[in-house]
Amino acid sequence: MSAHRASSIVASVDFDADGIQRGHLRLPFSRNESAWGNLMIPIAVIGNGRGPTALLTGGSHGDEYEGPIALAELARKLSPDEVSGRVVILPFMNYPAFRAGTRLSPIDGGNLNRLFPGRPDGAITEKIADYVERVLLPMADIVLDFHSGGRTLDFLPFAACHVLDDKEHEARCREARDAFSAPYSMTMLEIDAAGMLDSSAEALGKVFVTTELGGGGTASARTVKIAKRGARNVMKHAGILCGEIERGPSVLLDMPGPECFSFGDSEGFVEPAVDLGARVKKGDLLLCVHPHGHLGERPREYRAGLSGILAARHFPGLTAPGDCLAVVAVPQEGG
Ligand code: CA
Repeated sequence: MSAHRASSIVASVDFDADGIQRGHLRLPFSRNESAWGNLMIPIAVIGNGRGPTALLTGGSHGDEYEGPIALAELARKLSPDEVSGRVVILPFMNYPAFRAGTRLSPIDGGNLNRLFPGRPDGAITEKIADYVERVLLPMADIVLDFHSGGRTLDFLPFAACHVLDDKEHEARCREARDAFSAPYSMTMLEIDAAGMLDSSAEALGKVFVTTELGGGGTASARTVKIAKRGARNVMKHAGILCGEIERGPSVLLDMPGPECFSFGDSEGFVEPAVDLGARVKKGDLLLCVHPHGHLGERPREYRAGLSGILAARHFPGLTAPGDCLAVVAVPQEGG
C-alpha cells in the first residue's frame, strides 16, 4: 500500500539538531528541463533543547501572502536562544504554486489543501501532502497554517478553529486561536473539509489554528502586522517563546450553518451593496450581479441568509455561476 512506501522527499535539515538550519525539502521532479532534477522547497528548523514543537506553514495556496511574509521573516530572524523546544517553518508549502502566484500547482493542478493525506507515489502535490502528513505533522504539538483569500476572495482578518467531537481538544484549539489575537476570532464551518491539512492535524489530536487574513491576491501592511504578531503569540501560548502574549480586541465570530454562504448562480459583474465588516440583517441586500448582454436585463440580487456581519466576499469584479460570493458570520455578543 502507498501509505507504507517511504517519501521520496529528502530534507537537508536535521530535525533533531539544536540551533538554526535553513535548507530544503528536496523532491525529485524529472522533467524536460531537468532530467534528474528536483523541486527545492525552502524549510527552516530552529531547535533549542527540550520543549514543544510548532509547525508553522504558509503558501498552501500560492496566491496568499501574509503567511509567507511572516514566516519568511521568522526563518530569517528567530534565534535559537529565544526558543524552548523546536519551530519548523515551511513558508511556501505548495512551492510550485507559490512561485507561479496561483492557488493551484501549475505542475499537476493540485490543490494542496484538498489532497491530504496525500500519496508518496502520487503527483507532485500529493507527495508534498504525504510528507507533511507523515513526517512533519507527527513531530508537532501545535500547528499554525496561514491562509488568506487569494485572488478570488477577500476576508476580514481572522484566526480560526473548528467545532470538534472531542470538546477538550476543541477547547485547546480555541485557546490557541484566541492567543493568535487577530481582530476577529472565528469558529469556522468548512464547505468541504475532506483533504484539508486542518482535518489531518485535528485527527492526529494536534492543537490546530488556521487563518484567513485578507486576500485579493496580495497583502496589506495591516494584515502582515496581524500575521507577524499572531505567529509569535501562538508560539508564546505554546511555551516555545517567552514573554507576554500581545492581545488586542477581537470579535468572536461563528458560522452556524450553510446559510452563511451565498453562492452565485448567474454570470456578470458584481455591485457590492455592503463592505467587509458591515452589519447585516437576514434578508438585507449583500450584492447584485449585473448581466452585461443587454441593458434591459435586471440584476440578480443576493441577500443575507442570516443576521451577522459580512466576513468574506468574492474579490474580482466579474463572477460566474458557482462562485462563493459572500459569507456572513455571526458575532458572539459579549465575547
Ligand atoms: Ca486559502
